[in-house]
Amino acid sequence: MIRETLDLLMENFPVLIYAIVFIYGAVFGSFLNVCIYRIPAGESIVKTNSHCMTCGKKLHWYELVPIFSWIFLRGKCHGCKSKISAQYPLIETLNALLFVLCLFVKGLSIDMLLCQALMSALVVLSVIDARTKEIPNGINIFIAVIGIIRAVISVIPYIREHRFPLDAVLGPIVVAGVLLLILILSGGGAIGGGDVKLMAAAGLFLGCKSTVLALVIGCVAGSVIHLTLMAVKKVGRELAMGPYLSLGIAVAALWGNEITGWYLGKFF
Ligand SMILES: [Zn+2]
Repeated sequence: MIRETLDLLMENFPVLIYAIVFIYGAVFGSFLNVCIYRIPAGESIVKTNSHCMTCGKKLHWYELVPIFSWIFLRGKCHGCKSKISAQYPLIETLNALLFVLCLFVKGLSIDMLLCQALMSALVVLSVIDARTKEIPNGINIFIAVIGIIRAVISVIPYIREHRFPLDAVLGPIVVAGVLLLILILSGGGAIGGGDVKLMAAAGLFLGCKSTVLALVIGCVAGSVIHLTLMAVKKVGRELAMGPYLSLGIAVAALWGNEITGWYLGKFF
């Protein structure tokens, strides 16, 4: 019944639905900006009063419209004229596009909502990890929780997609085990404890095969991009793996079944 209604909506009003998803993606994007600044500082993320980072002026509603406010204010605070980071509209736009992509790939469904929640968590942890070289525990816990929800609903007939909870349990064990081994053998140099926890949490969401895929994509992208950056921009050797693992996790969440199916299909 709900399924049919959603399909009917999607069939008849695709543009409207894409627009709604883009808008709530941008609105969540502004919340992500708050998380990105407040989580590393240890501040509460539910406190509501938004203010200018420089002069402390409280923001009016029309200064809080995602993406558009920044363009309308030409990137400057209305009160003190100090520059507002372009990161705000960029994160809002990125999150909106990721939400739309989840709709495109997953259709109007519960899995779409779970994937959108995952994408948002990955955006926040990537920016924080790139800045502070640390992945906040709270975000890993959040990913683990939505992963468990996804595993649980996968056994409910009618919304499941041929996944078994066993797969969700094996995912984190296999990948976190491998990473833990690397962590121990390298004496903590090659990979951080936060990365291990991230892959364990993502394993709950992705299941076994897709988690391995996420790790492979993350490591390949990380090595290629970081080596290029080291050569071109002379960045240091120290590598924040979070953004690259996030890329792998995002790709695996959206297309994991298709990619692993295609790859394994070549051999079996
Ligand atoms: Zn100001």
